[in-house]
Amino acid sequence: MENNLLKENWSKVLDNLEKKISKPTLKTWFVNVEPIQFFNGVLKINVPNKLVKNWLESKFNIILLKTIKEFLPELKAIEYIINNQNNNQEYYKKTVIKKFSYQQKLTIFEINPSTNLNPKYRFENFVVGSNNDLAFAAAQGVVNNLGEKFNPLFIYGGVGLGKTHLLQAIGNEIIRKYGLNKKVRYATTEQFTNDLINSLKNQNIDEFRQKFRDIDVLILDDVHFLSGKNKSQEELFHTFNELYNLKKQIVFSSDRPPRMIPDIEERLQSRFEGGLIVDITPPDYETRLAILKIKNQEKNYFLPDKILEILAQKIVKNIRELEGGLNFIAFKLSRFNNYDEDKVINLINEYLRQNIKKVSYKKILKIVADFYNLKEDDLLKKLRKKEVIKPRQVLIYLLRDIGKFSYSFIGEILNKRDHTTILYSYEKIEKEIKENIDLFQEIEVLKEKIIN
Ligand code: ADP
Ligand code: MG
Repeated sequence: MENNLLKENWSKVLDNLEKKISKPTLKTWFVNVEPIQFFNGVLKINVPNKLVKNWLESKFNIILLKTIKEFLPELKAIEYIINNQNNNQEYYKKTVIKKFSYQQKLTIFEINPSTNLNPKYRFENFVVGSNNDLAFAAAQGVVNNLGEKFNPLFIYGGVGLGKTHLLQAIGNEIIRKYGLNKKVRYATTEQFTNDLINSLKNQNIDEFRQKFRDIDVLILDDVHFLSGKNKSQEELFHTFNELYNLKKQIVFSSDRPPRMIPDIEERLQSRFEGGLIVDITPPDYETRLAILKIKNQEKNYFLPDKILEILAQKIVKNIRELEGGLNFIAFKLSRFNNYDEDKVINLINEYLRQNIKKVSYKKILKIVADFYNLKEDDLLKKLRKKEVIKPRQVLIYLLRDIGKFSYSFIGEILNKRDHTTILYSYEKIEKEIKENIDLFQEIEVLKEKIIN
């Protein structure tokens, strides 16, 4: 068949295919997939990379054969060819593309329901540098002298510098060291506040108090969030006193020192200051590189050192951004077939640019609605039709994950839904993408659309 004819029919093939598989699946797996040649009953199809090749071969081969046969009755087999335009970068290709796969990336970390700790945050995978060595030493001091030495321990520093990691590592280490003898509870201040509001609403404040007072170690993350929240401040003040008097360990984090948190009661401020205050500052180049090496291993990306070095040079502000850059590069490179240092630098610049501009919720809404072929309004309304439930959960997930909107704000725009409903949806998707590779891929594609 003529090339032109092949291309023409291909769009019909895709149309027919769309009736058999979902539109998102089609959009996910058939980007840059096209026929190049038909000869002796064999149709050669270009695919962008190995990931797509494996996926099409293992999951879509039969359905594709059937669909294409409708237009090309002589078809006997399909051969998937990775689109190789330039083979000069063998080194990168061997080390990255061959080894990279999403499946490998999906290590599952379950949050422990009784402590609310995520086991992935440990002392061992926390890189110590001059920016955080005091905080690290204090954290270890806490574990070894519970309630005795630094109480409370107050760690502060800018976003994405490792506060949550260190706080959770303290909790996990205590569990490892003391086992069930010590009851640990970790919470973000947002969770603390939400729990309090709910318990007041449902009239079970006793349950709330038991949860936060009947313990040996309280770890409360991001207390700057208390600013202006009188009820939560008051409750925390009493929680603190009760625990402190029983010599229970308390650990706080905040994005600034206690004195700098606005709209906070004096008496609570002075409690924050009563133990040890340490800060975490941005890491230097060596520390950034060391962190990238650890993450590169943990996530099984196997990116070569050269790429990590470029990342460590270019992304200096915070570690979350550094890690985001690593994910971005790994994802991008898995979709392209060849690249070199310049390309990596361009990708990092692209990543940094997109990080600066804040994504509007309207944009996220529009992209999700388009992707699932739904009306924006249907996603927002309290409509319980089956086909909108999952897309709505995805929307909520993305509003939180990419938009960084608060649960209450998301609840507000979704027709005044309760923030716990929002939290539930978010967590549901967060869990599901670790188990369902289709959904994971779908969300990656959506993220890309939102960001670009
Ligand atoms: P914060 O709570 O200060 O905003 P996080 O603790 O959430 O920051 O850190 C952001 C990301 O960077 C996390 O994935 C965390 O594991 C990682 N990270 C931060 N500091 C370090 C470090 N010193 N070593 C290894 N990983 C780190
Ligand atoms: Mg944090």
